[in-house]
Amino acid sequence: MQHTVTLIEGDGVGKEVTSAVRRIIDATKVSINWELCQAGAEVFKKRLGSGVPRETIESISRNKVALKGPLETPIGYGEKSANVTLRKVFETYGNIRPACILPGIITRFPNVDLVVVRENVEDLYTGIEHMQTPEVAQCLKIITRPGCEKIIRLAFNYARSQGRRSIHCATKANIMKFTEGLFKKVFEEVAIDYPDITPHHILVDNCAHQLVMDPSQFEMIVTTNMNGDILSDLCSGLVGGLGVAPSANLGKEVALFEAVHGSAPDIAGKDMVNPTALILSSLMMLRHIGEFEAAELIEKGLYKTLGDGIMTRDMVGPSKYVGTRAFTDAVIQNLGKTPSQWVDKKSIPFMQPYVPSTNSSAVQKMIGVDIFLSGASNPHSLGHALENIAKSVGLTLHMIANRGIQVYPSHFEAPSMVDYWACRFIKGNNQALQDSEIMDLLRNIQAPYIWTHIEKLWFLDGNPGFSKAQGED
Ligand code: NAP
Repeated sequence: MQHTVTLIEGDGVGKEVTSAVRRIIDATKVSINWELCQAGAEVFKKRLGSGVPRETIESISRNKVALKGPLETPIGYGEKSANVTLRKVFETYGNIRPACILPGIITRFPNVDLVVVRENVEDLYTGIEHMQTPEVAQCLKIITRPGCEKIIRLAFNYARSQGRRSIHCATKANIMKFTEGLFKKVFEEVAIDYPDITPHHILVDNCAHQLVMDPSQFEMIVTTNMNGDILSDLCSGLVGGLGVAPSANLGKEVALFEAVHGSAPDIAGKDMVNPTALILSSLMMLRHIGEFEAAELIEKGLYKTLGDGIMTRDMVGPSKYVGTRAFTDAVIQNLGKTPSQWVDKKSIPFMQPYVPSTNSSAVQKMIGVDIFLSGASNPHSLGHALENIAKSVGLTLHMIANRGIQVYPSHFEAPSMVDYWACRFIKGNNQALQDSEIMDLLRNIQAPYIWTHIEKLWFLDGNPGFSKAQGED
């Protein structure tokens, strides 16, 4: 079958690694028409702020599959990352990062074979940031139920297709009860549909600790974006580093395969870069498009080459290594040769993303509002002023918090405070608050106070949808 795949060579070492992979795949005789497209540094130089030209977007939309070299992100002159552009345009919400011990590579642990499934588009990485006052910055952590369900079902389906028997869900739900807590909750709900896979929940800090103590206890980890960013890099380190770390980015329509590493400008053009990470990514791509035989030929060739001790500099150190081209030649010569420690992999398709159909709803009732403001020097004078304002519009000042600690009425003194106060007003007597009452309240908050933003306090099906401050009753 003839396939068309968008190929982005990328920056720095990108040309060398993509050319290695292309040579290897072409040598298997699988029929791929490579559609060469641009993105990254050269595109930024042409003053295209997204770093991805329209032709590239059109090519990926048409072909649905792309193999991509690393793209340089300009630092310090305000351009967006071309990687992020691609991730957002195609909503590749699932980032699959396998970490598996390869033959011949010396690592701390002999038996690592795990996959990190990272949510790729939500969380702090939506990049919604605001300076609230000259000394207070804020970043919004957005976690949605459909976003959680998509990635968690993807993880369970992937586990099933790969014959994996357990999944750990890594969160910080003990602290962030609504955002990370939602991820944990959806994980527990979805797990019921997969009785053949054992679900575990683990706090992400403990997960990092357990991974470096005994990684063999993990088969798969599913987690939110930032947790996954950190944990997956940690896992790359367990199996030999960036040169051997592959990844797949899956969206509803599009799958984009790339190495984890960047453009490594220090070794670009020197025939030194290790193409293994992109070779492993291309194996996922070949299985994704149903080319199982070609994938097995290449996997055997790669394992045989490594098992014979033929490695690039990063894998063996400076003493006895080969260059990128010689390494690629060796893999091509070894295509299909069974390595000594070969374990047959099942010819199962690389997972297709799951598209959820659920729509959740809840009875919503607004019972109060948090108004964030600056312009106060101490919580007591602010508290007295706000109590009067609240009374004048028929509301009650419930409390004031400073960086999450209740400071008015105060049970204990916060050790240090900043001029950024979360002031919680409620309607009381179980009554619903109206928008017009919030407007009245805001209109009455006069200088020296400056309100920066508000958060409505919702009860959802009778349960509070907002956190309490430390010390709040
Ligand atoms: P990097 O390009 O991954 O390189 C860091 C260092 O790791 C290299 O200098 C090299 O170190 C080693 N290395 C990485 N990949 C290797 C490989 N395949 N073979 C051998 N050695 C390898 O990280 P960076 O220097 O932080 O980032 C450079 C640029 O890449 C930045 O513009 C960044 O934004 C971009 N980037 C892009 C992507 C992407 O497109 N997905 C991902 C990450 C970074 P030694 O030679 O010193 O050992």
